[in-house]
Amino acid sequence: MKTSAQFVLVPLACLALLVSACTAADDSTDSTSDAVSSATDSEVAALFADGALTSDAITVDCTLSNGSESTCYQFEVASLSSAVDTEGPFCPETTTDEGGIWVWDGDEPGLYALDEDFWALMESQGFEFADADGDITIVDPAGGTPSSSTTENSCLQATPDDSYHLQVLIPTTPELLDEVTDLSVISQIGLAFDGVTIFGDAPSVLDTGGLPALDACGGHIDPSGYYHWHFGAESIQSILDDAGANVTCAIEQDNEAPVALAYDGYVIYGSEEDGAVPTDLDECGGHVSDTEEFGEVYHYHLSTDASNLPLCRVGATAEVTLSSPDGDNVALPNGTAGGGGGAPGDGGPPDGEAPDQGN
Ligand SMILES: [Zn+2]
Ligand SMILES: [Zn+2]
Repeated sequence: MKTSAQFVLVPLACLALLVSACTAADDSTDSTSDAVSSATDSEVAALFADGALTSDAITVDCTLSNGSESTCYQFEVASLSSAVDTEGPFCPETTTDEGGIWVWDGDEPGLYALDEDFWALMESQGFEFADADGDITIVDPAGGTPSSSTTENSCLQATPDDSYHLQVLIPTTPELLDEVTDLSVISQIGLAFDGVTIFGDAPSVLDTGGLPALDACGGHIDPSGYYHWHFGAESIQSILDDAGANVTCAIEQDNEAPVALAYDGYVIYGSEEDGAVPTDLDECGGHVSDTEEFGEVYHYHLSTDASNLPLCRVGATAEVTLSSPDGDNVALPNGTAGGGGGAPGDGGPPDGEAPDQGN
C-alpha cells in the first residue's frame, strides 16, 4: 500500500517543489518521502503553540549529518517555554507528598507515580531514597547540598534557569539515511510544538543511583536549567492510566495531534490516526500516510508504551541540532545519536552517592 501511494506522491510533490528538493526521494528505493519540505517557514511556525518560539522561524544554510549542504529551519525557544508549566512537582519531599512520575527499569518495571507505594517498592528492592521519617533525599544534580537527610539513593531535581535561549536546526528537506539511527538514552528526538526539546529515556537509576524525577506530563529540568521532555506529553495520560499511576497531566490530551518536529525534519504525531493506533508502522514508529497538515507523507507516531517516543530516526539531522546563543554554561548534547559526551546530565553524583553534607 505504501509503495503504490509513493509512485503517485513523489511526482506530484516534485512539481510543487524545487527540483533539487526531490533528488533524495527519487534516488531512494524506500517509500519515505519529503515531509515538510513543501511547507513554508510560516506554515511550519504555525504548528507551534503561542509563545513557544521566541523569534520568527527562519531558513538558513546548514550541513547535515550525512555531509549534505542543505537548508534548515532555525527555531529559537526559551530555556523555560512560556507555553508549558515547568514547575513540577518532580521529587516529593516525603513519601506521602505529591510527586511526579518515573519509568522504573529494575524489578517490576513500569511507569509509576512517585507515591507511597512506589517508595515502598524501592525499599523492598534495597533502594534507600527515604529516611526513617519518610523524608526523601532530594539532590540538585548540578551540585549543592541535599535538601533533606542523606540516604544511599537520591531523587534528582535540578534548578530551573529561565535566563537563556536554545537554538534548534532542523532540515527543511528530510534526507533519508541508509540505516536508521538508534535513539537510546538521552539522545535527541526533536522539538515539540510547545517549544520544548525532546530527549530519549532519562538515565537509569540502576546506572547512577539517582532518580531524575519527571513531572506528570513527562518533563523535567536539565542540570543546565532548561526544561525538556522525555515523553510526548499530549498522549501521556492514557499511558499513565493504563499503568495505574494516579497522577494527571494538565496538558490537554490529543492522541492525533502533531506533537513535534523530529530532528530529521519529519513530524511526530500522537499515538493514533483516524481513531486507532496505526498497524503499519516501521521499526521507528513511522509510516507514509495521509496527514491533515502535509498530505500523504512520511511521519512518526508516538507509541502507547512508556516512554512513548520513536525508538529510531530514519533521516539525517543537522550537524549541530541544538545550541544556545546566549547560555554560556549550558551543556548540550552534540545532536547525533546516543547521548555521547556532553549529553544532558540527568545523572546524579557518581555511584549514586549523595554529596557530603559536611556535618
Ligand atoms: Zn532529562
Ligand atoms: Zn500516521
